[in-house]
Amino acid sequence: MPARCDRLPLLTVSPGTSRELVVHRFGRAGARPKVYLQAALHADETPGLLVLHHLYRLLEEAARRGTIAGEVVLVPYANPIGLAQFSNGDHAGRYEQGGGGNFNRNWPDLAAAVADQVAERLTDDEAGNVAVIRGAMLEHLAGQQAASELHSLRLALAGLAADADVVLDLHCDDQALMHLFLVPAHWPAAADLAADLGCRAVLLAEDSGGSSFDETFSTPWTRLAERFPDYPIPPACLAGTVELRGRSDVDDATARADAEALFHSLQRFGAVTGNPPAPPTARCEATRLDATDTVRSPVAGVVAYAVELGQEVTAGDTIAWIVDPTQPPEAARSAVVSQASGLVLSLRSHRYVRPGMVLAKVVGKEPLAHRQGGPLLED
Ligand SMILES: [Zn+2]
Repeated sequence: MPARCDRLPLLTVSPGTSRELVVHRFGRAGARPKVYLQAALHADETPGLLVLHHLYRLLEEAARRGTIAGEVVLVPYANPIGLAQFSNGDHAGRYEQGGGGNFNRNWPDLAAAVADQVAERLTDDEAGNVAVIRGAMLEHLAGQQAASELHSLRLALAGLAADADVVLDLHCDDQALMHLFLVPAHWPAAADLAADLGCRAVLLAEDSGGSSFDETFSTPWTRLAERFPDYPIPPACLAGTVELRGRSDVDDATARADAEALFHSLQRFGAVTGNPPAPPTARCEATRLDATDTVRSPVAGVVAYAVELGQEVTAGDTIAWIVDPTQPPEAARSAVVSQASGLVLSLRSHRYVRPGMVLAKVVGKEPLAHRQGGPLLED
């Protein structure tokens, strides 16, 4: 069965203009497992756009060979609003310029939305419960009236992903190594995916506090299982955010290799038949997200890094010097240290900061006191 392409119109924001979401579908609608992949929800994070271009080709070949066993939904350009936002020549793709905030925050709590509706319909049949909950989530989303262009985008994306078995949201950091965000319920189930991708960190949090896109589809299952402990409710949607290194790590060879890694994972999930090679040796263990230090600058100035990406550091090591060039040289340099011991996972590319800006992420193993009780993701 060849690929099908749907074009979903967004709510028109001004007369005479229109935007649409382009969706590529492989396999039979309703076949399981259903895998949903999207790129560039943060619209200035471009690696995923090129990765899904290469994955599209691999899936077309698989469709020609008749080896798509499940359903694969590809949204290679998930944020047409943000992809069109430029400000004075710079791509501004993280926040909606219409005041809608961070594109990857404040997604709806689908567990809260459907809990009352499913309460009377749950039984001892686990598969039946999965079907009931998926149906209720889709029904809830279909019943929403879009109040803005952004809202129409959110409803369209959520409507495509809500009943999937696997949801992968492709992002990137500023300068970074490959990593993956998951809820703990999907570890070690996602270990082969992490190994295929060559992840250098897998960061686990029950609730990162930001209502990100991936958690919108993973947490309903864990939350409903907690709310209805007498009924079997599995973690039926393996949803994760894949951080495809840094924003400049965009080239055909890298993207092709990442697409092949994702294709092997699609085979392991059973969405595509065939025997993938054994996953490469894992390059990391999973760690708690609250053990990763997001090292912030307390002052403004020029960033002079004391470490490199991938370096192992010890708590107390200097990550960067922040230089205020208006001060006499002996007073101009402030050291910023890591509170975690571990791998330097990300750095920033623009080497000038204001107070509070993140300089680095360091992947520690032990939960950090200052990371408790607040949101674990950046704004
Ligand atoms: Zn992002």
